[in-house]
Amino acid sequence: IPVDPFDCVVFGATGDLALRKLMPALYHRWRDGQIPASSRIVGAARAALSADEYRAMAREKYQAFFPDDPIDEKTWKGFAERLAYCELDAGDAGSNWADLSALLDPASGKKRMFYFALPPSIYGDVAANIARAGLKTPQTAVVLEKPIGFDLASARAINDAVGRSFEERQVFRIDHYLGKETVQNLLILRFANAIFEPLWNANVIDHVQISVNESIGAGGRASYYDKSGALRDMVQNHLMQLLCLVAMEPPLELAADVVRDEKIKVLRALRPFTAATVKENSVRGQYRAGVIDGRPAPGYEEELGRKSDTETFVALKAHIDNWRWAGVPFYLRTGKRMSARRSDIVIQFKNVAHSIVGPEAGALHPVRLVIRLQPDEGVKLMLMTKDPGPGGMRLKYVPLNLSYAETFTRRYPDAYERLLMAVVRGDLALFMRRDEVEAAWAWVDDILQAWSDEAVKLYPYTAGSDGPAQSAMLLDRDGREWFDET
Ligand code: NAP
Repeated sequence: IPVDPFDCVVFGATGDLALRKLMPALYHRWRDGQIPASSRIVGAARAALSADEYRAMAREKYQAFFPDDPIDEKTWKGFAERLAYCELDAGDAGSNWADLSALLDPASGKKRMFYFALPPSIYGDVAANIARAGLKTPQTAVVLEKPIGFDLASARAINDAVGRSFEERQVFRIDHYLGKETVQNLLILRFANAIFEPLWNANVIDHVQISVNESIGAGGRASYYDKSGALRDMVQNHLMQLLCLVAMEPPLELAADVVRDEKIKVLRALRPFTAATVKENSVRGQYRAGVIDGRPAPGYEEELGRKSDTETFVALKAHIDNWRWAGVPFYLRTGKRMSARRSDIVIQFKNVAHSIVGPEAGALHPVRLVIRLQPDEGVKLMLMTKDPGPGGMRLKYVPLNLSYAETFTRRYPDAYERLLMAVVRGDLALFMRRDEVEAAWAWVDDILQAWSDEAVKLYPYTAGSDGPAQSAMLLDRDGREWFDET
């Protein structure tokens, strides 16, 4: 379904995010006919480039990032005709704002989007410069990339600064996990199937696992990453957003503030970490050299070129202190240079109260609902069945399997495609509200403080492994284990 015509300015247009994700996303939406011809896309950055040079750069990067998706000349020509470039320092009020203005449609009723693919430290200045240059219309949205700040204080400062120029309804804070098909499907799975909701509580669920494992390392971004670490870079946003969607109460409808009101209740019910509890409930790790997919992988400090106390792996045992989840641990885990790139949510149900078969039948596993976010998106319900055959009553643990690739053969948009079109439609449901971001930082700040107060150790793990042994022990102590099926 086509969206309304819009003008989209991408600041930081020469950066990695703009060229690897945003321009391809806009091209794909154009190719699928969702972007009306009267729309305009403007890349803006400090580099001195002509429009044609920028178009060539965007095209070359597209081909590099999508080698299996050759460009259709006629379609690219149409896209390129809508793509302009403006040499501009977005953080400088005295820069070429008049040039940018001249590239935008003056009609005030047209949707206008400014995407900040920039360092967050200048978000406030950029917002003020847009307003000062007279480019803000009632239909204008600003899109802010993560991380919104470095801690609660800096997140508040950014939100305050942007808030001085734009109303909250105009601010779209991206967490691209919320744009993933399988993440959106969480709401449908939970709330459009009557069988799950009665079971979705502490009476029946033993625990929840949320894992976002990457096989890549910090690589060339190590010096940037070193200031952040896994807790800030992944848990504060992606993992906590996933936790909210798993744990929240049913919203009345999918309207943005209705959903966000439910998510914030979860964040506020998260039990704070303290100096007394942090050692028992968290694990910090950092990768050392190892082998991934048969290829040698360097250690983090080798990539960084110096010693570091930054964690590239974190595992947490979290608790949500409310009626629904009392006593149900949420184990969160994320790491770089893990054995495989794999993100999933595992809802593990309690085991049966009494086994009707003896131990000779084999192990009796609990039911698990496994929601695979990437790769091989899908949903599996792991169940016990009788192993067919003449061997008597033998148990087998098998999946009821929904594979996205097999079931939905049509190409579906990537997260950024969906999120960009949601901005144009003004649908804030897939974006983080200010209070959500700040509540998540408040929780993470407590962990960081407790880590520092208690000098919590950094455990090494080998690149290509499943993280430090202490991560397995975090669950083992509770008689549980990470569910790492391939
Ligand atoms: P990047 O490759 O370093 O690009 C940032 C762009 O910002 C550059 O093209 C640069 O363009 C511009 N820039 C840098 N400093 C500036 C300044 N002081 N004033 C004006 N412009 C400045 O970074 P990126 O990876 O694209 O990330 C952009 C934002 O998205 C960051 O906030 C990042 O945290 C976030 N993000 C990125 C990814 C990703 O996959 N890359 C994922 C999630 C979030 P010019 O120097 O040409 O002006």
